[in-house]
Amino acid sequence: MNDRKTNRREFLETMGAVGAASALMGSGTALGGFLADKPERLAIDGGTPVRSSGLGSGSYGPLFYDEVEEQELLDVLRSKSPFRRPGGKVALFEQEYAAHIGAKYAIGVTSGTTALYAAMAALEVGPGDEVILPAWNWYADYDVIVLSGALPVFAEVDDSFDIDPGDIERCITPRTKAIIAAHLEGCPCDMDPILEIARKHKLRVLEDCAQCCGGKYKGKYVGTIGDIGINSFQLSKTITSGEGGAVTTNDPVLYERAFRFHDVGVVGRSFNESIGGGVLAGFASCNFRMNEFTGAVLRGQLKKLEIICSALRANAKKVRAGIADLPGLKLRKSGDIEGDLGMRIFLDMGTRERRDQFLRAIRAEGISANGPGGSAILPTDGRVANKATIHPDWPSFRSPQGQAIQYGAECCPRTIDVLGRHGGVTIGPKYTEEDVADVVKAIRKVYLAMHKA
Ligand SMILES: *Cc1c(COP(=O)(O)O)cnc(C)c1O
Repeated sequence: MNDRKTNRREFLETMGAVGAASALMGSGTALGGFLADKPERLAIDGGTPVRSSGLGSGSYGPLFYDEVEEQELLDVLRSKSPFRRPGGKVALFEQEYAAHIGAKYAIGVTSGTTALYAAMAALEVGPGDEVILPAWNWYADYDVIVLSGALPVFAEVDDSFDIDPGDIERCITPRTKAIIAAHLEGCPCDMDPILEIARKHKLRVLEDCAQCCGGKYKGKYVGTIGDIGINSFQLSKTITSGEGGAVTTNDPVLYERAFRFHDVGVVGRSFNESIGGGVLAGFASCNFRMNEFTGAVLRGQLKKLEIICSALRANAKKVRAGIADLPGLKLRKSGDIEGDLGMRIFLDMGTRERRDQFLRAIRAEGISANGPGGSAILPTDGRVANKATIHPDWPSFRSPQGQAIQYGAECCPRTIDVLGRHGGVTIGPKYTEEDVADVVKAIRKVYLAMHKA
């Protein structure tokens, strides 16, 4: 046993510890103990960086634009019919998207934000209602609750950066109407306990899938698990038309309400096509209709969705395997690691100080690295903390509950802690084997040097 250990150490030393680690990457060999013996000089301390030019991934969708999207767009141009119509690109995209994820209905809209607003209208969220959302989330989730006249109530996130199911019941009152489960940075929420709480208290669940298009929880696509789901096709999402969004649901009443809200409240031609005359009366609404150019690009992008997701997952899996043996390693939790998109790999570095040190050192190695991103710690944002609205008599904060509620850092200490101690690397769907090996190399090199220190 001892002999073998010595031999392996000699082998590693002759190869260069990090070279050996990447050569053996994916084999699951436990190398941590040996590598920790001889850390390499970090680039940040004057050593040679793993890569001379920076490795990161831009937006995924446009990397996959090709003649498929071109043809779809040309069809619309040549038809001289860019407005939503029965049998057009938007209607086809809605059918194909719904079929792809296994939802009964999908509605194409102008953005993720307007999809959320339509979902609020579908759920009949209004003055006097409260909606629970995670303290780490995109602004739109907070904004549409306020724009509906309702009161946002923040729950903490857990080590998945998604809403902590264990913190939801603390936030429930007799006025609570819905819970927003946002699947953030590619990571599906743990939906079972969330659904159980919702059933127990008769609450609706809205899934915000804007950062997790193509993600799954226990084999089901996100956006099909709660009462209603939304997605965004803005540039930074899994697939993109620059801007765009969708509402998904299996509930015909929620569908009709969302559809009416997004199309001037009326039962238009496109609506007749999908659900007949409808069963509800119209109500004050908006226009968030998707145009045919957007629908065309999204039809093309939908064909790439699984290619992008499986490439991300495969690359993330290789990185996780390549660092699995690191001593004391703690990765970001996931509601379902198999369904997780793997767009980032986050390490829990224990403290914000060590996290920042880790990120600086990884970047010096030529690998893009960041803390959690794409969302904000909403309660600490000025306009949230100050409950600023477009009119002083806005109903959200005029009620006794609205006046009493306190935002600011005090309402989400655990969220601030969780986000501060995690640092991660970006995974690209077009990373080569060498790129993936370099990511592993950089993490190992920096982590082991810091573990020594
Ligand atoms: C991007 C995003 C939205 C809003 O989508 P837009 O298309 O930018 O309006 C909503 N929620 C989350 C979690 C997002 O990341």
